Amino acid sequence: MREELLGMLEERYGERVRERWYSDPFHVLVACILSQRTREENTEKASRALLSVAPTPERLSSLPLPRIRRLIRGVGLAGQKARNLKRTARLLLERYGGRVPETREALMELPGVGPKTADVVLCYGLGKPAVPVDTHVNRISKRLGLVREGAGLEEVRETLQRLFPVEKWHLLNRGMVLFGREICLPRHPRCGQCPLRGCPSRVRK
Ligand code: SF4
Repeated sequence: MREELLGMLEERYGERVRERWYSDPFHVLVACILSQRTREENTEKASRALLSVAPTPERLSSLPLPRIRRLIRGVGLAGQKARNLKRTARLLLERYGGRVPETREALMELPGVGPKTADVVLCYGLGKPAVPVDTHVNRISKRLGLVREGAGLEEVRETLQRLFPVEKWHLLNRGMVLFGREICLPRHPRCGQCPLRGCPSRVRK
């Protein structure tokens, strides 16, 4: 299954995955904190609004809390996220001279940053090897039988990192997200269009 999955992801998404894929780590960090329990379009809108006013930790830490809350009001838990963002910006200044730290452990000490956010920042903000496990990666790994059904997100991440060579981690993550949006949908997977013949969860109609 591993070879089949990698081959399919490479053929289908390889080019898109290799496009310039990482950007300013601070912006990735802000967007990822905003994205928690929020729809993608609302995250994008709030990220644009906030980062256009506060594109750096200096600017964000100097914004009054009510202003941050207003700028991100379209996302869920806006009050809590505004507090986390302001505290995170301040910590980046105090501890790291305004830079985003480059280890998972240091990232996870920042307010509002859990394992997935840390992995997203490592992968998409800093270009480092990591496998962020979002809902698509989690679901598809289990449907394909790569990871046991009851595994938590950390176990999914560790298993995938063990099963696949590090140079394939980005293809695996980005490719599975795209595949999960297009074919292996959460509720009604499009098995009839799916090239993965060896999938044990194939729905036959
Ligand atoms: S066969 Fe169906 S369940 Fe299996 S990976 Fe493809 S779309 Fe998903």
